[in-house]
Parts: sequence; structure tokens; C-alpha cells
Amino acid sequence: MLENERIKVLSERAGFNLCGIAPVKKFDNNRVVYDRWLNCGHVSSLEYMCRNIDMRFDASRLVEGAQSVVVCAVSYKSAISGGYGSKDNCKIASYACTTDYHKTIKKMLLYILHELQKEYPSLQGRAFVDSAPILEKQYAVEAGLGWIGRQSLLITPRYGSYILLGELVLCDRVDVYDTPYGGIGCGECRRCIDHCPTKAVQENMTINTSQCISCRTIEAEQEGKIDLNGWIFGCDECQNCCPYNRKAMMHDNERFDPIFDPRQIRADEWLEMGDDDFMSRFGRTPLKRCGLERIKQNIKK
Ligand code: SF4
Ligand code: SF4
Repeated sequence: MLENERIKVLSERAGFNLCGIAPVKKFDNNRVVYDRWLNCGHVSSLEYMCRNIDMRFDASRLVEGAQSVVVCAVSYKSAISGGYGSKDNCKIASYACTTDYHKTIKKMLLYILHELQKEYPSLQGRAFVDSAPILEKQYAVEAGLGWIGRQSLLITPRYGSYILLGELVLCDRVDVYDTPYGGIGCGECRRCIDHCPTKAVQENMTINTSQCISCRTIEAEQEGKIDLNGWIFGCDECQNCCPYNRKAMMHDNERFDPIFDPRQIRADEWLEMGDDDFMSRFGRTPLKRCGLERIKQNIKK
């Protein structure tokens, strides 16, 4: 049996700010809500959300023999998070101003797994960062990290929602599991609903992705225009207005330092940029995912 305390020590050494551990469970209640969301037409271009649904609600179908889920979170809040002025018109979500987090977080998770395997050689487990159909936010709640806010992101009391998540699914039990989050959550606040420029945050705590600037600037192109409000990759508006993010601590892991500042790059500089220049300046960031042409299109919209 694994030790909760040991996993927490390794998580901190790996560079995570938060770590919680929950037993594997089936989320039948969440499935009802999810099915309702899939059927209401708000999924738009996120077709992958319709795949592997059985696995999504039962991690033991994702990893045979899974018993525990370690949820780790790392803050990326920087001066760019919430730092745009009213005249900025080439805004980029602040997580995208750092080195692409997928590889970084995967390495951090594998460090924990490999250290555990030195002590428990027969331990099996897998690390996931956005790569598998697992209810990561729900597991984060079960592991005591925070709650799911009205804008459908995980909010943590100390770091707000400017966090990135990764999970280790382990095929062994842990001596003590963390207590699920039991605080007041959003309470009476509804700032993100009122502040979303395209009214994509719904009253029922879901997002209408066909109206969401973040989806419209990154995911597959869709019919119909919406005002992108100066965002050219992602959108942080429903995070910037959140009181928990305003008081959240800045990130302290240098692997999540911004490597460029969108406030310093004008529209004409983007529009005149060539592919080689783009790759040398932004090839390590999440911007590579949608490519230069898409960014140029988003500027012209
Ligand atoms: S990312 Fe932007 S457009 Fe999407 S829900 Fe949040 S505020 Fe609205
Ligand atoms: S802005 Fe308010 S309602 Fe929205 S996620 Fe933050 S605390 Fe919750």
C-alpha cells in the first residue's frame, strides 16, 4: 500500500504546487449532466468530447487495475494573467505564453511515478496531461484541491484557476485518501457569467463552446462570426474577473515563466511574420498547435 505523505513529498519535489489523492470511482451522476450537455448542441467543434465516454466516467476502464488517482496542479499565473489593457488587440491566453505544458507536466508526473517504483517495484501506473478521457476536474474535487467554478474550470482557494492539472493513475491503494473539497465554492458570485464578452458561460455551469472565444480561436473553424474582442489565441476573460484569481499567488516554478509578452507584439508584426520566424520564437509554446496562419486569420476577424 502506498503512503499519501510520501506521494505529497514527491509531488512537491517534482515542482507541483498542489497534490491530492482520491480513490478511483465511477461518476454516474456526472455522466447524466455530461450527456445532457452533449445533447444540447453546445459542444460545437470539440468532437473528441463525444468519444470514449465509458472510459471518461470510469478510470478503471482507462487503466486496468486502477485504484487511486493522484491529481497534481501547478500555477502559471504571471504578469500577463489579467494584465491586458483596453487597447491591447493581440491578446493571448497567459498559459500559452509559456513552454507547452504537456511535456513539462508529464515529466514531472513521471518523476513521481519512477520514484515510487523504486520503493514499490511492482507498482503500475500511467501519467496523463490532457491526453486521456479522464474526469480530471472531478477527481481534483474528490482529492480536495478545489471546486468547479461557474465557468467550468477548477478553482483552488490559493492559486485560483490559473493552474494546470496532471494525473497519475496508480494500480495500488493509498493508506489515506484526501477529503473531497467541501467549501462554499463560488457562493453567490456570478462575475464570470456577467463578464464573458460573448455570453458563453451558461447559468447551469457549462460553456456554450460555439460562442466561446477560446474555442473559436483555437479549435476547428466554425460557421458564423463572433466578436473575438482582441483575443487571437485563447481567452482569459472569465478567469481575469474571478475574485479568486485576483488574489491568487504568482507562479513560483520557473518552468512556467512566460517566454514572450503578447503586449509587446503588434498586429502588423504578426501579419508580416514568416513561418521560420514564428517557429523560432513560438515553436515551443502552445501557439504551435494552431499555427501562424490561424493566428493571422484571428487578427483579421
Ligand atoms: S474563455 Fe472567454 S469567451 Fe470563453 S467562456 Fe471564458 S470569457 Fe467567455
Ligand atoms: S468569477 Fe465567481 S462565479 Fe465565476 S468561477 Fe470565479 S468565483 Fe465562481
